[in-house]
Amino acid sequence: SLPDPEGSAPASSRETDPQKIPAAFQIEELRVAFGSRPVLHGISLEIPARQVTGIIGPSGCGKSTFLRTLNRMHEFTPGVRIQGRVRLFGEDIYDPKVDPILLRRRVGMVFQKSNPFPTMSIQENVLVGLRLAGIRNRSLLEERLEEALRMAALWNEVKDRLHAPGTELSGGQQQRLCIARALAVRPEVLLMDEPCSALDPIATAQIESLIRDLREHYSIVLVTHNLQEAGRTADFTAFFLEGKLIEFESTKKLFTNPHQKQTEDYLTGRY
Ligand code: ADP
Ligand code: MG
Repeated sequence: SLPDPEGSAPASSRETDPQKIPAAFQIEELRVAFGSRPVLHGISLEIPARQVTGIIGPSGCGKSTFLRTLNRMHEFTPGVRIQGRVRLFGEDIYDPKVDPILLRRRVGMVFQKSNPFPTMSIQENVLVGLRLAGIRNRSLLEERLEEALRMAALWNEVKDRLHAPGTELSGGQQQRLCIARALAVRPEVLLMDEPCSALDPIATAQIESLIRDLREHYSIVLVTHNLQEAGRTADFTAFFLEGKLIEFESTKKLFTNPHQKQTEDYLTGRY
């Protein structure tokens, strides 16, 4: 059966047409090739601001590759070729004038296994981005530490052991720590690549609920191969297949009334 998207926020009170919401990212004819092998074949998509946009599709269809183009993470991949345009709140992020380090502060990223840095305490893990940005002011660092840990729903669990190693935390806490690390620099967008796929169901539920709370402040792009997770968490969902965008709709519409046969086949388990 199809995943049930009813667990999400009251659909009636939310805009379901992505075109009517201001865009965080405007992606035009995006093509990515590794060497001579094309992997993304001209993706055009507007990712709405302050929403959770899910990217679903079978393994190898290009979800992670796509996500990485949104903060220029491919910069150091040998042989990669990127064509097309990606605008973030109107600004072309591939413009040579854009500093990729500053860009990555605006566009934070959380991976499936974004392990805490093993030699660092909980506190140092959260503050590492701010320290790299040259921030030394103690009271500012303390303020941001608490803010990020509260945002990541971790403050109460760790406030009495901020100097313990990050790796001492449970799997779900470690993932929330990595979210706090991404949030500490106050990004505008959060990219998440399979953030729950290494977690047990309880930790997964906590992170999913956190993601839904975070969209009040951030635009979130959530890559997942887990349809139930997209159904529970994403406001809008894009379905990718073999490097192409097949369909982009409100999650509810995509899951209950897909327009494309390929989407329907995927949702009903025929891929
Ligand atoms: P997904 O995240 O949907 O599973 P990926 O974006 O990781 O898919 O991969 C899409 C395709 O691009 C795959 O065929 C993969 O092997 C290929 N690919 C990904 N990264 C690289 C790379 N750095 N070099 C060469 N090929 C790659
Ligand atoms: Mg992937």
